[in-house]
Amino acid sequence: MSLLYRIQHPRDALVVEGSMPITSLYTVGIAGERFFREIMEQARLFATRCPECDVTYLPPRLYCERCFSQLDEWVEAPATGRVHTYTTVHIDLDGNPLPEPRTIAFVRIDDTDGGIVHYLGKVDPSEVYIGMGVEAVFKKKSERKGSITDIAYFRPV
Ligand SMILES: [Zn+2]
Repeated sequence: MSLLYRIQHPRDALVVEGSMPITSLYTVGIAGERFFREIMEQARLFATRCPECDVTYLPPRLYCERCFSQLDEWVEAPATGRVHTYTTVHIDLDGNPLPEPRTIAFVRIDDTDGGIVHYLGKVDPSEVYIGMGVEAVFKKKSERKGSITDIAYFRPV
């Protein structure tokens, strides 16, 4: 059977049981490396800016996705923003009930054109609303590992 073999009905699909060893390594890239290093070492957010398009990228990009210019202007962004959208989850990824519901939001970071998907904390899910002002709560420096979870959550301000 070649790769061009086409089945005529889903019941004719070939099933191969077993496992395939697949390894992968996700890299955050040059911009992502600096973004997470600033969070880990300084508890601050950095973005890149395209002066031609007047766009501030957070998470930072090395190239403007509008004009394709290389971006070398880094700007510190405030660790504050507004809830753009959110959802409250009651079960984990395996379908098990959570001890308490968790609210996850896309937070538009102030003074940028971007944002971060993250947990909301210190707020009852019923009190969350679109446009609610929030700020990042960073973990203690000794607990930070250079990932987005170095931000523990965003809380209302
Ligand atoms: Zn641009």
